[in-house]
Amino acid sequence: MREFFAEALVLDCKMQGEADKRVFLYAKNFGKIMGKVKSARKIKSKLSPNLQILNFVSAKIIERGGFQIIDALKEGNLAMSQKNIKAVELINDLTEVGETDLDLWKIIISGKLEIKKILESLGFGVKYASCFNCENKKIKFFSSKDLCFYCENCVNYERFQEKIYLI
Ligand SMILES: [Zn+2]
Repeated sequence: MREFFAEALVLDCKMQGEADKRVFLYAKNFGKIMGKVKSARKIKSKLSPNLQILNFVSAKIIERGGFQIIDALKEGNLAMSQKNIKAVELINDLTEVGETDLDLWKIIISGKLEIKKILESLGFGVKYASCFNCENKKIKFFSSKDLCFYCENCVNYERFQEKIYLI
């Protein structure tokens, strides 16, 4: 068993089963972490409000098979805007657990979560990209489902559902 602290942004937080929560963090030193919070629904749980999406936290984590978040202090937060929510969704879609990326962390702590910047830091250059379908240079969307860019005419909301990002 290993115990460590992580300075991190909460990317996502969902109930898992009756009482537990599954939380995705993006941490400065560890990259993406998927951690469990046990009995998150209990009244006594002081962790839950701190582990809201877009919060910056200092998290105490133990590794025992998987990761378990045993404490989390809120250190700040990014504005709860649609733009920021989409940005952290994109980060969660495109990053793998355990891959650190200091450039991405710098974007996160700058507080300016622009889809374009996030894509570029993760190797999806926007500048020379063209629509996957028609090769139009006027790209407007990125889909994390097939990792392709699309122009306004070729974007298919039905197919990609929420996995589509306005650049
Ligand atoms: Zn197109």
